[in-house]
Amino acid sequence: MPIRLLSSEVSSQIAAGEVVERPASVVKELAENSLDAGAKNISIAIEDAGRALIEVADDGQGIPANELELAASRHATSKLIQSEDLFHIQTLGFRGEALASIGSVSHMVITSRVESAKEGARLKVDGGVSNKVEKVGAPVGTVVRVENLFYNVPARLKFLKSDVTERRAIDSLVTRYALAYPQVRFKVTDGKQATLQTAGDGDRRAILAALYGVDVAKQMLEVMATEDDPSTSSGRGLSLSGFISPVSLTRSNRKEITFFVNGRWVQEFSLTAALLQAYHTLLMVGRYPLTALFLEIAPEDVDVNVHPTKAEVRFRSQDKVFSFVQRSARKALLAYTPVPSVSPQLWGSRSRSDEMPGRQVGIDWSVAHDSVGSEQSSVGSDELRDTSYESRITNSESPVSNLQSAFTTGVPLLRLIGQIGSTYLVAEGPDGLYLIDQHAAHERVLFEKLMAQHESKSIPSQALLAPEVVTLPPQSAKTLTEQLPFLNHFGFEVEEFGANTFQVRAMPILFSGGDPASALKALVEDFEEDESPLQAEVEARLAARVCKRLAVKGGQTLTSEEQRSLLNDLEACNSPRTCPHGRPTMIHLSVDTLERQFGRKGAR
Ligand code: ADP
Ligand code: MG
Repeated sequence: MPIRLLSSEVSSQIAAGEVVERPASVVKELAENSLDAGAKNISIAIEDAGRALIEVADDGQGIPANELELAASRHATSKLIQSEDLFHIQTLGFRGEALASIGSVSHMVITSRVESAKEGARLKVDGGVSNKVEKVGAPVGTVVRVENLFYNVPARLKFLKSDVTERRAIDSLVTRYALAYPQVRFKVTDGKQATLQTAGDGDRRAILAALYGVDVAKQMLEVMATEDDPSTSSGRGLSLSGFISPVSLTRSNRKEITFFVNGRWVQEFSLTAALLQAYHTLLMVGRYPLTALFLEIAPEDVDVNVHPTKAEVRFRSQDKVFSFVQRSARKALLAYTPVPSVSPQLWGSRSRSDEMPGRQVGIDWSVAHDSVGSEQSSVGSDELRDTSYESRITNSESPVSNLQSAFTTGVPLLRLIGQIGSTYLVAEGPDGLYLIDQHAAHERVLFEKLMAQHESKSIPSQALLAPEVVTLPPQSAKTLTEQLPFLNHFGFEVEEFGANTFQVRAMPILFSGGDPASALKALVEDFEEDESPLQAEVEARLAARVCKRLAVKGGQTLTSEEQRSLLNDLEACNSPRTCPHGRPTMIHLSVDTLERQFGRKGAR
């Protein structure tokens, strides 16, 4: 084929593809424009996961009627004049591409009015072709209405994921912007339902609660650090603010690690790496923190013009930024979290309220802060126990070196000796001493019973005395809606009860006394977008999560009757040596090990 210039239609579609990949990218570009225009209120309406409609309305400064057509053309921007300006970018936009790109792959209508004009103006763009600008009555501000996204690019349409996934991408985007701009009121409506609304009163923790739920928001630790740098033109150095999760609060992936740089949401590997460094040795392998961190840096020290979506940045001195983020996060973390060690004192100091199922719901702020801040009381988290367990097995000098008895085999009949630290059962077997983690053990017991009942299709359930109403953050609510059939299958009676709200009427008898809210949350927390659709596997995994949430916790004193029955139940399990998540339920100190340790037998 001979070389030809691309037609403007083709080249604009290629360019659009870089900026507008999915409905969420449209929302991002439009919301960024509203923020750049100084809006205090931004309302976003979505229909059909953004395929049918995305409308973003703001009360910003507006676009003058005579500039409207220009605003929708490629490389037209009011935010940048010379190339040097690229290194002093103070706005979110600057490439002048978004409106043109969106207009070329949709039916777009921009309605806008500036304060000084008596009436507003409207421009329609259909698949990149602009119509005439018309005068219309309109309030000050801008409304961009995007219909039938990708109607003329069927290939793109095919690449879109399920409605749920696309909507989730939009929600997660808007909530993050709401976090970054707590002074701005954001509202999202999906069809007729309002799914997110922020107050615009500057309260970031309240927005965190909308994003992750109240109990998570309460636990998040605040980060606040600044460092002056006289070498920059402004003397301004680096500052980091926002929230990070304590070590007891983790996810199985990095999706909840959020960074903003100068008000811009970025996916920047080096920042994530710095953060993970801060958590180094505090988290179990494969676990990641949740964060919403806002880095401010002198504009000349950061290059934002790396990629059309502006989601990547380059720092002039990467090392400096890395160590600043790492140090600041670490400091915040250590201020609240005692470093885990294998000292026996830790075992007994676990506070009861910390781990009781259901206790996290409804405690007031002061209590929550207290328990996070006070030295030892929050040590009892699973993760911490995991860490200290790991450090015990990796330490070959440890007296507990004989751990590798096959985890899959059954356990011999055990004689209960008692409970220590309100957390472990001590028992004697034919070959030495057994230390049993009551939480892990109970998880295993519940899980096997539940799965057995499930197999025989007879999960007895019990109506709650009073139905419990549980409200979840919008994303979690969506996930839960999809999981309702599972729940009902497993002896729960749960129904939707208004926006993001559910009513639990019955629970499996197995969990009687457990907190229904915890059970629901266990299902949606950590839920992976692309979880395997193999039904049996998913069900087992979900069941395991619920069991984990509702099992007896460490720090809970058990009566000897309860201890004994837990032990008996554990003996009856098919795989008593691990919890459904693979952690050991018990540590075995053989007579042989004991004898060596006491120097009775061939000292090592
Ligand atoms: P960029 O944001 O990179 O400048 P866009 O294509 O997103 O490019 O927007 C082009 C121009 O249209 C902007 O520079 C701005 O002047 C104007 N504009 C777009 N959206 C709005 C809005 N919501 N309020 C006011 N002006 C807007
Ligand atoms: Mg823009």
